[in-house]
Amino acid sequence: MANAMSKSEQVQIDDLEVTLIRSARRKRLSLEVGVKGVQARAPSRMRLGAIVAFVQSKRAWIDQHLANVPDIPSNPEFSDGVSIHYRGTPTLVILKPGSKAPVKSTSNGIEVPVSESHLPLEVSAKTKLIKWLKQQTRAELEVQVARFAERMRIPRSPHQSIRVRDYKRRWGSCDAHGSLSFNWRLILAPPEVLNYVVVHELAHCLEFNHSRRFWAIVEQEVPNRKEYQQWLNQYGITLYQL
Ligand SMILES: [Zn+2]
Repeated sequence: MANAMSKSEQVQIDDLEVTLIRSARRKRLSLEVGVKGVQARAPSRMRLGAIVAFVQSKRAWIDQHLANVPDIPSNPEFSDGVSIHYRGTPTLVILKPGSKAPVKSTSNGIEVPVSESHLPLEVSAKTKLIKWLKQQTRAELEVQVARFAERMRIPRSPHQSIRVRDYKRRWGSCDAHGSLSFNWRLILAPPEVLNYVVVHELAHCLEFNHSRRFWAIVEQEVPNRKEYQQWLNQYGITLYQL
């Protein structure tokens, strides 16, 4: 979760794609390898050439760590009766061939209508389901952002907006105008985890960095935030099964 004080860009170094995050507060260059790929954090004014040379000098270490990062699982077996996590609960997906009704959540599971199309049944059903899930994410985020923004006394700015995005490896972000972006897959996670990400990004409207003050603000609303961070670190990858 980046913040307004830092700038992030993708840099190609040999055959490595590196996320370079520059920040005025940073004094030294550091490297991190994880599910987000290779991240280099550097002081704002450090020359790109120096960063490239540093990354190259650490290549063996990077490769060793990359080899230990788990892959994002994909689920090609999308079909009638598949189980997905929806709001943290295993939920059945029920395909309804020939139906023109909208997608809906019932006590049996999520019903997805599928009509004749040039696409294979599973592909069009999956597309429809994801579109519906994104709508649910947006609706839930609008409720939670409004609720927590009021509790946390976040000043509302006219530029503020909520975006639901298809992020590869992040959960949310907050830009300098206080506009919030979130990963649509948060609707698959337990509601407390989604709320934690909302509070985290809203707290960036008050504190741009991850300082002690920042965490104090977060903990006022989510005292056990470490538990949810841990959840995201450990299980966040499973939200990419869809
Ligand atoms: Zn953050």
